[in-house]
Amino acid sequence: MRNFIRKMEDKAIKNERLSYEEGCRLIQAEGPDIIDLISSANRVRQHFCGDQVNLCSISNAKSGNCSENCSFCSQSAYHGTAIDTYPLTSSEKLVSEAKAAAGHNAEAFGVVVAWWGLREGPDLDAILERIRALSAAGHTRTDASLGSQR
Ligand code: SF4
Repeated sequence: MRNFIRKMEDKAIKNERLSYEEGCRLIQAEGPDIIDLISSANRVRQHFCGDQVNLCSISNAKSGNCSENCSFCSQSAYHGTAIDTYPLTSSEKLVSEAKAAAGHNAEAFGVVVAWWGLREGPDLDAILERIRALSAAGHTRTDASLGSQR
């Protein structure tokens, strides 16, 4: 596995795309091979990014009451975790948070929500309204993590 990991590292540094099959083989690394994989990934990162760090920020824009039952997740309505729960944050508040993040040199601001299976409809419309407001304000690049699709 070690030789394969190094081969994939060389490929990545040459900016060559790894195949699906190669990616599948990499994620099968276990035991000491995981340390080799982490070291290789770090050399690829160092090659492309050096010691530069880009800052970003996120907002938990809808907290808790998720309809799904993912056993690891505090946002699920199925678990009695003592978290603040609230509906989707307003555009105004998100723009204000993005401005504050930019004041701390964040280049990107991510909108993160606790739900699953976002589809066309009121939830998507509400998210798009907020992303448009953030983009128009222009304090940072706008990112989003909107859960998996059904
Ligand atoms: S779908 Fe996402 S937010 Fe909801 S419980 Fe699962 S991991 Fe948590």
